[in-house]
Amino acid sequence: MEFNLSKISGSDGDPNKVEKMIIIGAGPAGLSAALYAARAELEPLVLTGMSLGGQASLTHIIENYPGFPEGVGGAELGELFQKQAERFGARFEFDSVTEVDFSKAPYSVRTYGQEYRTDTVIISTGASPVYLGIPGEKEMTGKGVSYCGTCDGWFFKDRDIVVVGGGDSALEEGIFLTRFAKSVTIIHRRDELRAGKILQSRAFNNPKIEFIWDTVVEKINGDNSVESVLLKNVKTGETTNHPTEGVFVFIGHTPNTDLFKGQLDMDENGYLEVDSKMQTKKPGIYAAGEVMDSSFKQVVTSAGWGAAAAIQATRFLEERE
Ligand code: NAP
Repeated sequence: MEFNLSKISGSDGDPNKVEKMIIIGAGPAGLSAALYAARAELEPLVLTGMSLGGQASLTHIIENYPGFPEGVGGAELGELFQKQAERFGARFEFDSVTEVDFSKAPYSVRTYGQEYRTDTVIISTGASPVYLGIPGEKEMTGKGVSYCGTCDGWFFKDRDIVVVGGGDSALEEGIFLTRFAKSVTIIHRRDELRAGKILQSRAFNNPKIEFIWDTVVEKINGDNSVESVLLKNVKTGETTNHPTEGVFVFIGHTPNTDLFKGQLDMDENGYLEVDSKMQTKKPGIYAAGEVMDSSFKQVVTSAGWGAAAAIQATRFLEERE
């Protein structure tokens, strides 16, 4: 990939400027990396993409982030992270990265608006849940449709809910949700689960869990909150209306790594590979948060990894000097 360097303008219009650090993505990992890098006086430039706060900002209230005994709104937490980083000199551009060139340092990062050169990059582009893409899903998100049992399970205390999916996430989250819900009905499009045997056996033995097989959800019904789902049996074609107050969708996550294909190592699911110090194999390029994490997916773990990546990037720059 060849960049036209004459077009490079940098964040302050200086074509020769090389940033010390660019952070791509502004979820908990990126924002906490920004805080740590700003406090190391690196004046990091955060390219936020289309939204601040990442997936966490979609959560009505976060009750498991330490320091907020009464909980904190997901969007509010994102704003607090940003404010704290800005206080120490982090800069934010509300622009999306469209292309990167990591073939040689300083690295090139292109957005819709500009091209930048930078000594280090922290990638915190997160992951996106796979959506069902059915009527009512978007409208009911946050009103009974959720993609995170840990975040939202508590709101479904003593309710009847459904979980969509047949993989490890669906079963693991479905089992977790039985702590709160009166019943959890797992709706799977086949008659065989993709999830591992141990989780299967735990789910089958859980008295609160039922399964509906060979079935897809075609529509989510409700006005201000979810009231029912329209189900279709894929073998018989029969449709039924299934009353429920919550729909948890776990049909996979996709790390947002398309930009880096062919330039950084990824595992078979597309997650960026890093060592224990958050380093990719390219010197000065780090990844933090759900873009490299297929197991924990929590605000607190992502924030921790973001901090670690920034500390390591700071050391890298210091050693180079
Ligand atoms: P996954 O393994 O890809 O499973 C997705 C499930 O959703 C599958 O059962 C799939 O059905 C179903 N599905 C996909 N698209 C659908 C659609 N449009 N409508 C209805 N159903 C749909 O995803 P995951 O469960 O999130 O797991 C991702 C990775 O993380 C896996 O490697 C998993 O092993 C790992 N993981 C591990 C653990 C653990 O070890 N405790 C926990 C969570 C995740 P089909 O089966 O018919 O394809």
